[in-house]
Amino acid sequence: MEVRNNYINGQWQASVSGATREVINPSNGEVIALVTDSVAEDSKQAIAAAKAAFYQSGAWRRMAGPKRADLLLRIADAIAARADELAVMDTLDNGKPLREARCDVDDAAACFRYYAGLITKPQGGVYEVSDGFGPMHAYSMHEPVGVCALITPWNYPLLMAAWKLAPALAAGNAVVFKPSEVTPLSAVALFEIFHQVGLPAGTANLVLGSGPAAGQELAASHDVDMITFTGSTRTGQTIAAAAVGNLKKVGLELGGKSPNVIFADADLEGAVEWAMIGVFFNQGEVCSAGSRILIEESIKDRFVARLAERARAMSIGPGMKDPDMGAIVSAAQLEKVLGHIERAKQQGATLVCGGVRHTEGECAKGYFVQPTIFDNCTRDMDIVREEVFGPVVAIQTFTSEAEAIAMANDTPYGLAGGVFTTDGARALRVVKEIRAGVTWINCYNPTFNEAPWGGYKMSGYGRDLGVNGLLEYQQVKQVNINLQPGPVGWYQH
Ligand code: NAD
Repeated sequence: MEVRNNYINGQWQASVSGATREVINPSNGEVIALVTDSVAEDSKQAIAAAKAAFYQSGAWRRMAGPKRADLLLRIADAIAARADELAVMDTLDNGKPLREARCDVDDAAACFRYYAGLITKPQGGVYEVSDGFGPMHAYSMHEPVGVCALITPWNYPLLMAAWKLAPALAAGNAVVFKPSEVTPLSAVALFEIFHQVGLPAGTANLVLGSGPAAGQELAASHDVDMITFTGSTRTGQTIAAAAVGNLKKVGLELGGKSPNVIFADADLEGAVEWAMIGVFFNQGEVCSAGSRILIEESIKDRFVARLAERARAMSIGPGMKDPDMGAIVSAAQLEKVLGHIERAKQQGATLVCGGVRHTEGECAKGYFVQPTIFDNCTRDMDIVREEVFGPVVAIQTFTSEAEAIAMANDTPYGLAGGVFTTDGARALRVVKEIRAGVTWINCYNPTFNEAPWGGYKMSGYGRDLGVNGLLEYQQVKQVNINLQPGPVGWYQH
């Protein structure tokens, strides 16, 4: 089997470790690829290449914005041209349904287009300033941060790469990218595209390997000016601590336990379907998943009965067959999800449906879990407090708007939240009170390249996407201009 390698300074190269890692198809447990398994020394080489590209050559950062934009547009076109292949890659690697992977590929291409457009728009400001030193003028300009390390998780392999690489490159940075070791394949394809469109050598570097062996160096290195990370809150804390050494800029997109608040006046069928999208999309392996449904008591029984009916009817199977729900990403994640389910049972939550590994027919060797609903959950249960990152939802009830808001915010996380009601003013009141960075009214989970994405509280800081996503990868420089050069007469002697 051919081994996929690192891409450092414009060259494909194996890790100095000489080791390889198997990439597994979670739908059947089979090995689908081998990738090089990097260690800290590989990350050091990639950082050195990025540093030389940014600080010595400067070809990319000095390239005029419209020319950088042209390259990003060519990257978007190349992603679109390989859309079918990339979608199959993420489906086989991650386990998700093929049509969901196709959406990811379209979104990834659109993300490169969005930042190609944005980088050619006006940035910075011009300021009227006081004339204490004589006539002066000030303006600000946006510059790239420098060497940026980008680390992503396995739930949206290509899309998470695009969310970080597109703005980082648009801004003129040099980057070192480490995808999750569990789902590295589409990242390799993306770097083939970077090579094909002719990004200057060293501008974008790829390191394949685990977090502790290859990722930690990216967080700790004093030659890295910024690290942005999407992944679990615990790893985010490790990265933030490692980044302190040179006070590099840090961006963290972390986990969540997001509330989906449903009032009795909501359109019930709509709320049920969006709640399913909220918690079963991508097998529930979504950071913003609406994994706590808070429902007004008077409609709880009807809602739960309908949700369970719909959940039981979901088709489960290999992503390539395009089922409603695919496989959990890995054997390790399957064990985690089943562990959460067992604890919820032990702690007294009522299992309504699912709650077991799914092994029927073609699923026998894969890592499948049935869509799982727990009713009668209470705030002290782990299923209400901890992120599962699987197709498992906890139901709690409320009787007033104030109680709903208090319950929604009763979590250390603050990534997302939703509200369903036909009372427009109430929808706006509740969304305003939810302490989270991403919210929805009468829908759950759609997100757009144009709008900023990120968390409050322990869901992290910094923003991906939108104008804010570009600003993260920039520094702002103030320029003050003396309009009347010559002595200013400040010192008298
Ligand atoms: P993870 O934290 O285990 O790993 C994420 C990435 O960090 C991987 O590339 C991994 O190799 C790397 N890593 C691990 N230890 C590291 C270390 N010490 N130093 C540097 N890098 C290290 O997360 P995961 O299991 O891959 O993904 C699931 C998590 O990601 C969930 O908690 C989910 O909520 C979160 N997530 C958040 C968002 C968001 O936008 N907020 C989006 C997607 C996923």
